[in-house]
Amino acid sequence: MEAFVRKPVFTVIAGAAEELKFPAYVVGGYVRDMIMDRDSVDIDIVTVGSGIELAKRFAGKIDPKLKVKVFKNFGTAMVNFQGEQNWQIEFVGARKESYRKDSRKPIVEDGTLEDDQNRRDFTINALAISLNKNDYGNLIDPFDGINDIKRKIIRTPLDPDITFSDDPLRMMRAIRFATQLGFDIEDKTYNAIGKNADRIRIVSFERITDELNKIIQANKPSQGFLMLENTGLLKLILPQFQELKGVEKVNDKGHKDNFYHTLEVLDNLSLKTNNLWLRWAALMHDIAKPRTKKYDEKIGWTFHAHEFIGSKMVPQIFRKLKLPLNDRMKYVQKLVLLHLRPIVLAQSHVTDSAIRRLLYEAGDDIDDLMMLCEADITSKNEQKVRKYIDNFKLVRKKLVEIEEKDKLRNWQPPITGELIMETFNIKPGRIVGDIKTAIREAILDGQIKNNYEEAFQFMLETGQELGLEPA
Ligand code: ATP
Ligand code: MG
Repeated sequence: MEAFVRKPVFTVIAGAAEELKFPAYVVGGYVRDMIMDRDSVDIDIVTVGSGIELAKRFAGKIDPKLKVKVFKNFGTAMVNFQGEQNWQIEFVGARKESYRKDSRKPIVEDGTLEDDQNRRDFTINALAISLNKNDYGNLIDPFDGINDIKRKIIRTPLDPDITFSDDPLRMMRAIRFATQLGFDIEDKTYNAIGKNADRIRIVSFERITDELNKIIQANKPSQGFLMLENTGLLKLILPQFQELKGVEKVNDKGHKDNFYHTLEVLDNLSLKTNNLWLRWAALMHDIAKPRTKKYDEKIGWTFHAHEFIGSKMVPQIFRKLKLPLNDRMKYVQKLVLLHLRPIVLAQSHVTDSAIRRLLYEAGDDIDDLMMLCEADITSKNEQKVRKYIDNFKLVRKKLVEIEEKDKLRNWQPPITGELIMETFNIKPGRIVGDIKTAIREAILDGQIKNNYEEAFQFMLETGQELGLEPA
């Protein structure tokens, strides 16, 4: 608290507030994170007065050229200022919100600090620190949030049933904060999520997905997904993932529960990488197992082509969740599609041509693919796990060797379609593609070397087999 009080950014805000005679407070996430010793650069300032005016006065004191972004409709203003840190400061007037049954939007009026604290989602987010002369640096904690931080508890300040019904996104936020901070959700609050889960339908997917991504980016994302499932939220926001849960039995033979398996893979992977999209790939890697599941008398349960169907399911899921439909989605699709390949390799004799093919198809994402596949090993049988890990080491070693030799990562075959057309004096058409494919396959199989001379010779031979003569 001492260090906080002396931070110049706060003394300048306090000075601006004093000049305007607006009482001002730091509230919410910044206060929570400071008490928890977490680094945070987002500062929320509440003032009993005009947030916009206070922001302008503050900026003027720092540097008359400093930009103030005003959001008139919300009565808020943002200032981005590079001080001891790259601060993002949001100023807002204290307000009171009342929700009515027939409308999603609250009635918003000017209010007191107390009103403003009452409208906050959780006790740990409702803490305020005074920036006023008479009690500068004092903590104002009407709901004993400080004790909840100590006990690691997520709890709503008011009746959770009303809090969640008013703004159902708060259910996602409760689970997100619990996962991010490693907290528990108080029983009454948790039960209210189960009771109000259905109301999540009125919330836009942009907001839901923001929280979902934060859950996925936590140290142990499974914690959040277990709660999402248990409260009934998961089946509403990501039903395809919910469907992974459960074990079917035929003749007493079951398969593994793919919901828990996927969570284990996601947790394993999260120990190794913060890459959100790689984590999404883990989440999606077995997504098509329920719809490809078959029982075969001889071989038992099969999930034939689940990697292929799964990669086809990714766009529809991304679209629904308002996730980007760009190269990041394609990356997730690619990893889902290829996720079995290194395992298959590791199970059998590792041939150079199989490695070449994998390098060609995975390109620059080969390391991410290997990381995903290693995380995918969740067998309880230690001997089996050992064996897989050893084989993966061999696959990795071979990958490096062959990449050094053949440079296939971002490879384009040495012979273009134009050259084929020119050489045989033919027009664009299927035959050009066939020759191109034959050359590529010959190189990947190791039949010819990856260079222009051998590829050109091979093109001539292939063309002649097809009845073509060089022009
Ligand atoms: P972080 O920024 O790390 O995600 P935060 O607590 O700062 O955490 P924000 O979403 O930035 O979360 O919101 C800032 C503050 O606004 C919160 O601490 C909380 O007091 C309040 N708040 C945000 N969203 C809601 C909501 N849906 N209902 C009630 N209060 C909210
Ligand atoms: Mg914040």
